[in-house]
Amino acid sequence: MLKLTIDTARWQAHQQQVLAQCPGLVPVAKGNGYGFGFAALAQAAAALDLDTIAVGTFYEVNEMRSTGWSGDIVVLNPWRPHDDSEAKAIGDPRVIWTVSRAGDLKRVPRYKRLIIEVATSMHRHGIDPAELASLPLDKRHIEGWCIHLPAAGSLEEARQLAAACVAVRPDIPIWFSHLSFDDYQTISAELATPAKMRVGTRLWLGDSGAYRVTGTVLDVHRLPKGTPVGYHGARTAKDGCVLVISGGTSHGVALAAPATAHSLKQRLIPVVEGLSEAYGHIISPFTLAGRKQPFMEPPHMHSSLIFVEGPGFPAQVGDEIPVTVRMTTTYVDEIEFN
Ligand SMILES: *Cc1c(COP(=O)(O)O)cnc(C)c1O
Repeated sequence: MLKLTIDTARWQAHQQQVLAQCPGLVPVAKGNGYGFGFAALAQAAAALDLDTIAVGTFYEVNEMRSTGWSGDIVVLNPWRPHDDSEAKAIGDPRVIWTVSRAGDLKRVPRYKRLIIEVATSMHRHGIDPAELASLPLDKRHIEGWCIHLPAAGSLEEARQLAAACVAVRPDIPIWFSHLSFDDYQTISAELATPAKMRVGTRLWLGDSGAYRVTGTVLDVHRLPKGTPVGYHGARTAKDGCVLVISGGTSHGVALAAPATAHSLKQRLIPVVEGLSEAYGHIISPFTLAGRKQPFMEPPHMHSSLIFVEGPGFPAQVGDEIPVTVRMTTTYVDEIEFN
C-alpha cells in the first residue's frame, strides 16, 4: 500500500496563505489531482469558499462532479471540433469551455459560457492578439480572456497581452496562469477589469512539509553477498538485506527518484536497462537508514525490491518507509488526514 499522509491543518493553512496572496484564485484540480485526487481537492476548494474549480479535459468534468462539487468547472484544454468528449458535459450550465481558435468560436453553441485563450510566448494554444478585435463576441457569454504564460511568466508579456484584450473588450475579466503572486498583484492593481489566476502546484504542493508519501515493508530477507534475487537473478553486491516494499509501477514509482537524476549513473539508466547487475546501483526513491537505497531490479507492479547493505535489519515488516515521488504522476492507495 502506498499511503499519502496529510497534515490537514498545515495543508489548509498553506492554501489560505496562497489565497491571501492571490485574490481571484481558481484552484486547478486536473490529472491525478496532484496526487491527492479530485475528492480531496474539491473538498479543499469548498473549504476555501471558492465557487469555481478548473479541470484539464472534458473527460475530467464528470469525475469532478462525482465528488459532489456543485460549483462552476472550467475546462482548461481548449475545445476542438473533432473532440466529442464534451458531449457528456454539454448540457451542464456550470461548465465553462475554453476556445483557442477563431474558427472554433463559430462552432460552439451560443449558450455556452466561454473563456477565450490568447496566444503567448508558450506557443501552445491561443488566438493571436492581433486577431482578437475581429472575433464575433457579440451575444456570447464570455467569462474571461485567458493568458497562459510559460513557467515564471514575465510581467511585461502579461501586461502587453492584457492590454490587447482590454482594447477589444474592457469589461471581460482576465484569467492568468503562471504569474508570480507578486506580479499577479501588480497587474491586478493596474487593470480596471477583474483578474483571476489558475493555480495548481503552488496551492496543493507548495508546502512540501504538509504531506508525505510512504510505502510499507512487506518482507525482509538477510542474504550473503552474491545471492541471486528477483525476476532477473541480480546478485547482491554485499552482505545485506533485500526488502520488499509496497509501491510499484502502478503507483507511478519509477526507476529513478525524481530528485536524484543528476548523477552519471542515473543518466545511463536507458543504456544499462536489461543488464540486471546494474540495477543494484540505481538509486530508488525509498529512504532507509538515512539515505535513498538502490533497487535490486526494476519496480514491480505493486512493490519494489530494495537492497540495504550492512549488518542487522534496517527495517521490520510493517514499517512505513518514506518515498520521494513526483506527486503529479503518483497514485496512492490511501490518504490519511491527520
Ligand atoms: C495546469 C494549468 C495550470 C496550473 O498549473 P500549475 O503549474 O500546476 O499551477 C494553470 N493554467 C493552465 C491553463 C493549466 O493548464
